[in-house]
Amino acid sequence: MRRALLVLALLLIATPAIAADYVPRTKNEIAFAAILKEHQNYNARLQKVAAPLLKANAKYCPRTRRDIGMTVHTLSDYQPSLQPFAEVLIGANDRLSIRTIREGSPAEVAGLKEGDSIIGIGGSYMPSGFTVQRFFDLATKTAFKGEEAELKILRGEQRLDIVVRPETICDYPANVFFNEKANGHTDGEQIIITSELMKTVPDDVNLALILAHELAHAIKGHQRKEKSLELKADRMALVMMSRANYDIDRAISYWRDAAHPHADYQSSSKTHPSISERYKNFRAEQLRITKAVTAGKTLSFN
Ligand SMILES: [Zn+2]
Repeated sequence: MRRALLVLALLLIATPAIAADYVPRTKNEIAFAAILKEHQNYNARLQKVAAPLLKANAKYCPRTRRDIGMTVHTLSDYQPSLQPFAEVLIGANDRLSIRTIREGSPAEVAGLKEGDSIIGIGGSYMPSGFTVQRFFDLATKTAFKGEEAELKILRGEQRLDIVVRPETICDYPANVFFNEKANGHTDGEQIIITSELMKTVPDDVNLALILAHELAHAIKGHQRKEKSLELKADRMALVMMSRANYDIDRAISYWRDAAHPHADYQSSSKTHPSISERYKNFRAEQLRITKAVTAGKTLSFN
């Protein structure tokens, strides 16, 4: 998020101060609005694809947290030069408000809406000046611990008490960063997918495989790039996808295809197995998983 904003800030460096009732007009402003929208779409897709993996594998993740599937923001989270854009284009304001809600999330099920201001949590109102960090601290450390949590919402003139049912998920959030190279990686804390990869990955099942592979590296704390660890992460990815009910047959069929978009990147790397090695490894693991599932056994990593 911070790095994405930095990129947006760089784009805007030459943009003069703008009025609060601003609509994008100049070339730069229109380009900025388009990039912001593209970023929102990539993020929404990534959250949707990551959610089943993070939820179904919570039991096996060393780090978990309670979550309801939304992001929040306040105007002060944006650099001063960006604030008018954040206000008009993505509805940020002085109060803490909901920026995005993931499809099918507890937040959506509870009836929360993007743009809702959050004025209280766990039965108490917040003093003004509630930051994103303080909200998440309160939510994850206390309010979201239980089966149910109450949020106090301001929606236009309406005040609402909304009860949400948080769920436990792996605490390795997935984020999109703007970069023209198609790449996914992890720093051990989060999974980072570049905008170029979001653009080029053929479908959500393939995106899930990339995410699950990085999640495996994060869970296992893999530090080095090593062939055997890459193949291990691939096998773990299929197990985690299977738990999340992703179609693993379909996911690996992509790796049989010689016209793979990352073929160059893969074959030029000494630390990465070749496409055919990965496919063989995937195929063997797929057979093992299918056998275990058919026999009604609990899936473990291999
Ligand atoms: Zn890897």
